[in-house]
Amino acid sequence: MIYFIGAGPGDPELITVKGKRLLEEAEIIIYAGSLVNRKLLDYAKEGCSVHNSAEMDLEQVLEVMEQGEKQNKRIVRLHTGDPSIYGAIREQMDELDRRNIKYEVVPGVSSFCAAAAALKKEYTLPGITQTLILTRMEGRTPVPGQESIESLAAHNATMVIFLSVQQIEELVERLKKGYSEDTPAAVVYKASWPDQKIIRGTLKDIAGRVKAGSVRKTALVVVGGFLGDDYELSKLYDKSFSHEYRSARE
Ligand code: SAH
Repeated sequence: MIYFIGAGPGDPELITVKGKRLLEEAEIIIYAGSLVNRKLLDYAKEGCSVHNSAEMDLEQVLEVMEQGEKQNKRIVRLHTGDPSIYGAIREQMDELDRRNIKYEVVPGVSSFCAAAAALKKEYTLPGITQTLILTRMEGRTPVPGQESIESLAAHNATMVIFLSVQQIEELVERLKKGYSEDTPAAVVYKASWPDQKIIRGTLKDIAGRVKAGSVRKTALVVVGGFLGDDYELSKLYDKSFSHEYRSARE
């Protein structure tokens, strides 16, 4: 059996209880070495065979899985954050299906959740936005034209942009086609790691601040009015608003 596990954003305590148990039981671990915190490997038992997928291609990863499966080993494929977001997990699952190898997926805490926690903010604020857009700018991987940064920015929703901080200047120029220049923005570097860093500003000055702070990778760019202090209180905890679990009070 193969378990795809979301390792969480970095802090080894931010893996799920289930993910940790499966790591402890694993006989083979294939981890995404470019981003997964190596401290998570301390959960592995002695004698566990550990492979860093950063140095492997898809075929090599599948080969380790297939060989392990033939020997009835417990195999963990450890992905950063949650594997459903830029995880390149689908191509592995489809190939395992073709080879009739069974697998399960254990979700993880994505870095976008860790970034909100680091910022101590809520992405969806009444009166500001009820929508969160997770996206990236095209790099070596293309992005379909209908999802251009400009067109997504036009909604003025909260945006979390992955894999793009190295092109922060171009990104900000394109965001400004939709958001006003004074929209707050922040860059969260290595959310939940000991060397986590937060850079705050507005679309006017964030690119310069990021350059000055030398942040080039492992960071999320977050944009939107949710970073400000203006919003309406929620209906959920409004005492004049009744719902299934609570009736309205005067
Ligand atoms: N599946 C992962 C994302 C993988 S893509 C998740 O759910 O988080 C890799 C990109 O994610 C990085 O380039 C960076 O933009 C972002 N990222 C991953 N971990 C991060 C962290 N701890 N802090 C900030 N950004 C992070």
